[in-house]
Amino acid sequence: MTVLTPATLDADELRGVATTLESAHPSEVIAWTLQRFGRERSVVVTGLQAEGVAVLDMAVAVDPQVRAVTIDTGRLPAATYEYIDMLRDHFGRDIEVVHPDAAMLGEYTTRNGLNGFYSSLQLRLDCCHIRKVEPLERVLRNADAWMTGLRRGQSDRRASTPVVELDDGHGGIAKVNPVATWSEAQVREHLAARGVPLHPLYSRGYTSIGCDPCTRAVQPGEHARAGRWWWEAEGVDKECGIHGRPELPGARNEGAQASE
Ligand code: SF4
Repeated sequence: MTVLTPATLDADELRGVATTLESAHPSEVIAWTLQRFGRERSVVVTGLQAEGVAVLDMAVAVDPQVRAVTIDTGRLPAATYEYIDMLRDHFGRDIEVVHPDAAMLGEYTTRNGLNGFYSSLQLRLDCCHIRKVEPLERVLRNADAWMTGLRRGQSDRRASTPVVELDDGHGGIAKVNPVATWSEAQVREHLAARGVPLHPLYSRGYTSIGCDPCTRAVQPGEHARAGRWWWEAEGVDKECGIHGRPELPGARNEGAQASE
């Protein structure tokens, strides 16, 4: 009798694999993901920062046909568009680009202006929702597992990132964070050893790269994510919401996690 593997992990399986994968090399984590969920139901989602590109590189080594997606918010730096083409050339394959819903975006910009996100935290979160969160939700509707570049050392919010978890925000599918346990140096060493090009903005003082109007280079000694939404008040999460709701000042969001 054929026993079908369920598409989603249950709590028992999660507990078992989480212990094993915690000490596994990221390539092994990726291989497990593709074997467990299958190529057709697994996807690497990357914002093209070093961590996500390292995951992409390892995933392509495991399975050259692995699905790879990035989200074009429509406000990315010109260097990011150039970088997408650099990576396509490097890997000799496509990277799927998904876009915001035109109707939602049109309604937002008509009502709030093209740069309405500077006006209030709510309008910034609304913009992030339309340009990032909703496109990701569309991608994940057809997936049972997604692989990210989240790393514990990126911020306090990410310090407890598991290697594998159930993503309740996306229907309970598996969320796999292969480089969660790695240091920034390990990520950079991996990319250098593999000859994978880095996003050009790293050499211009950027330590975290997002949309052009919302990201700037950081000064020496500043936190790596200080250049994101730099105008917002102290205590506002440097998060967009694709990994869970950002925590708002003075309010704790139960179950909220970190972001891109
Ligand atoms: Fe909009 Fe800025 Fe968020 Fe990009 S980072 S989606 S431009 S608010």
